[in-house]
Amino acid sequence: MTTKAARILAKKQQHEHELELDLFLSTAEVDAQALAAADDAHAHALPLASIAAPDSLGFQRQPQVNASSPAATNAIVTTSSPVTNGDPATATVTATNTLTQTGDFLPGMVLLRNFLTPSEQQQLVNDAQELGLSHGGFYKPTYASGAKCRLHQMCLGKHWNVVTEQYEQARSNFDSAQVPPLPTLWSELAVKSLDAARAVDPRVMGDCKSMKPDICVVNYYKKAGRNGMHVDKDESEEAMTMGSPVISFSIGCVAEFAFIDHYPVGHEAVPIVRLVTGDVLVFGGPARKLVHALTRVYPKTQPSWLRMRAGRLNFTFREYKPSE
Ligand code: MN
Repeated sequence: MTTKAARILAKKQQHEHELELDLFLSTAEVDAQALAAADDAHAHALPLASIAAPDSLGFQRQPQVNASSPAATNAIVTTSSPVTNGDPATATVTATNTLTQTGDFLPGMVLLRNFLTPSEQQQLVNDAQELGLSHGGFYKPTYASGAKCRLHQMCLGKHWNVVTEQYEQARSNFDSAQVPPLPTLWSELAVKSLDAARAVDPRVMGDCKSMKPDICVVNYYKKAGRNGMHVDKDESEEAMTMGSPVISFSIGCVAEFAFIDHYPVGHEAVPIVRLVTGDVLVFGGPARKLVHALTRVYPKTQPSWLRMRAGRLNFTFREYKPSE
């Protein structure tokens, strides 16, 4: 290729990249009044729904459903339609068509339904937008196979390299940018969520006494966004052995999260939980090696008070090496 052709191609790719980012970033201004009203409604929407696996004593926790939120009534759903993963390397996931209660949740897996307040969600979005446009911000990763991921990603604290499947300080699979640290507010929200989750099921902590998140991977999914079946397995050996928890925030459109305790074989049924904006999902201890996928994003399902380009933002917090 001539130098000129290479320059033109590079410029075209840069332009496409900026366009994609612009799609994510150009949103209307926050409507302070609508946000305050949403916060007020959230404060009165008690009790908070939390869902965990039945505990070992045989006591079956019933999911508490928040009546004011229609999205919460089918807290755990499965569908009969086959869904294809984003990662071409993995198999198709087929789910059963039965509504389940808590039985499919694994010990050490807790869903805090609608936990984050609207203001907290908007703050996370605003921060993600600011960081996302800065050096080391959102990019579209490419698998080792050459296939593009069906999401945009930004890593904070440490960079997760999709090609080597290891953490590093600078993103050697893209532009060598150093990754920014986690905003303090984000870590505080993650710790607050974890405290609530461990009160529901202490098994989320594994063998860790506490957890201070030092890594956050932010994924942005558009309506066709997907993430194939995988295990979050690249933190330190100690973190994996001790079952140090993963804390996951969902913001924006409703999405389907498939999960199972092993890689599904053939067309094996996989339970799916529908995650809505403000949900916090925690998995640790015996559930740390949960096999999971993001199988579907429902378009036009984000609340009107949330100022964010259509899609779903997912923040996952981890501690690379357990501090205690
Ligand atoms: Mn994951």
